[in-house]
Amino acid sequence: MIPQDFIDDLISRADIIEVLGRRIQLKKAGREFKACCPFHDEKTPSFTVSPSKGFYHCFGCGAHGTAIGFLMEFDHMSFVEAIEALASMMGVDVPRDESDRPARRYDELFSLMGSVEKHWQACLRDNASAVDYLKQRGIDGATAKRFGIGYAPDSWSDVLDKFGKTSEAAERLLATGLVIRKDNGKHYDRFRDRIMFPIRDARGRTIGFGGRALGDGEPKYLNSPETVLFHKGRELYGLYEARQALRQIDQLVVVEGYMDVVALSRHGIDFSIATLGTATTSDHLDRIFRLTDNVVFSFDGDRAGKAAAWRALENALPQVREGRQIRFVFLPEKHDPDSYVNEYGSDAFMQAIDEGIALSDFLIGELSSQVDMTTIDGKARLAELAKPLVNNIPPGVYRELLIESLADTVGLSAAKLERMLGHATEKQSRPAPNPANEGKRRRRESTSGRPSAVRRAITLLLNYPESGHKLDVEMLAGVNRPGVDLLRDLIETVQTEPNITTAGLLERWRHDDKGRHLGKLAAIEVPAEEDFDASAELVACLEQLAAAGRRERIEFLIEKQRLSSLTDEEKAEIRALR
Ligand SMILES: [Zn+2]
Repeated sequence: MIPQDFIDDLISRADIIEVLGRRIQLKKAGREFKACCPFHDEKTPSFTVSPSKGFYHCFGCGAHGTAIGFLMEFDHMSFVEAIEALASMMGVDVPRDESDRPARRYDELFSLMGSVEKHWQACLRDNASAVDYLKQRGIDGATAKRFGIGYAPDSWSDVLDKFGKTSEAAERLLATGLVIRKDNGKHYDRFRDRIMFPIRDARGRTIGFGGRALGDGEPKYLNSPETVLFHKGRELYGLYEARQALRQIDQLVVVEGYMDVVALSRHGIDFSIATLGTATTSDHLDRIFRLTDNVVFSFDGDRAGKAAAWRALENALPQVREGRQIRFVFLPEKHDPDSYVNEYGSDAFMQAIDEGIALSDFLIGELSSQVDMTTIDGKARLAELAKPLVNNIPPGVYRELLIESLADTVGLSAAKLERMLGHATEKQSRPAPNPANEGKRRRRESTSGRPSAVRRAITLLLNYPESGHKLDVEMLAGVNRPGVDLLRDLIETVQTEPNITTAGLLERWRHDDKGRHLGKLAAIEVPAEEDFDASAELVACLEQLAAAGRRERIEFLIEKQRLSSLTDEEKAEIRALR
């Protein structure tokens, strides 16, 4: 018996490009690799390998799998032989039982990050122009020290030469995103001639870096890629430092960049944090609301800042409730918190924060500005626009109050507006499927590209395992659909094994009948843009399933009532469900 977590770990660290690249000719195509399929005859490559998912798929013959699967198919190995081959490529022994399981390698990666951070801090002390730049930006030595700011020299191999002498060391650099691998297998430094900002996790360990170009280098800001240590959708820059500086966090200010966080801290405002090149996700908000009920979003005064604030609002809606204060601050055009606090000082910034507008006012104000409020059509349109937003707010006092002010704005009674909003939810959800039509429907869905919610949720989880970390699996209680059991198992797996990859999940279900089709779902293309919010999509799928489950239960109870009668419990249940 090979311990499952050894297999998980092996799969998450194995480089599928390396495994396949030794056996077939791979060509880079965007973020993936292509090849002529080794499993069927073809002239034009339809065999695609995704290094991030650890997964290959052929659009021609449908062959697909992980590095382990490839070794089994291509080299005709057994499962255990494939594991052994992969382990020996990576220089680790296969443990035979729980007792001789090796320690996870994450410790090595964390200590590597720490060493590189220290190295870059030393480089900063030796580089006059980098020090000058920081001084120019108003960052003093104490602030630089507090945030561990450093400098990555203008070299293609500074980190590589110092920390990547052996091939295993270079692999570790690659795993932490500090170097990039070229097509010819050679590596080079990712960060060159940049001011470096370590990104720390809740325990203060460096998990990634943000780099600001010192000169005119492009891009101006460069972050570590997603790695086993660093998940952009979850991490908040400055949170660790804020928790170090403050005994108690009364409020948090969410800004756009690390320069904003550092500049505010330099002016004594120690409670700002930044997302890292992504919109504010619900994971971010979960972490924030665990620390404080008082959150201020301060974005740039330009259009992009406004758009970012709106995204933050949309993601915050499911989390608003009484007692939580969410406000938005828009600085004057051409200003960000960094430039603003440097020009006007901390008192002015604090005043701007105190004068921030409440979430409800921002929401109603933005919607009103999109319609002509002087006409009845305009008001109806505003109610229409508000529907999906209001319906994302959990029921409670906050939602009631928002509906009331919305009703005020459109000049309707709150009760009437609520009916309109309620009506909308019903109309938006899809009718419960008739099991007899299920097969037909599924076929139609696969051709029309509108997959069922279960299928879509599983596809998202396979492609973005981290998006399931915060899901409440209880939402699926009482939902009876083909595949829901599998969906529930998948959610529980990604939650107990937070570092599991696409390939890891596929391997988990390798010997399972239910999982036979997972490989096909993993091969479905899902959006891969930086700001695609898989977690939000997943929550939407689960909500859709939960709503359908409730509807079906109501229909069942009504039907039962018609045919016989309901028990007292069932009567109470139907009242609660409606
Ligand atoms: Zn093929």
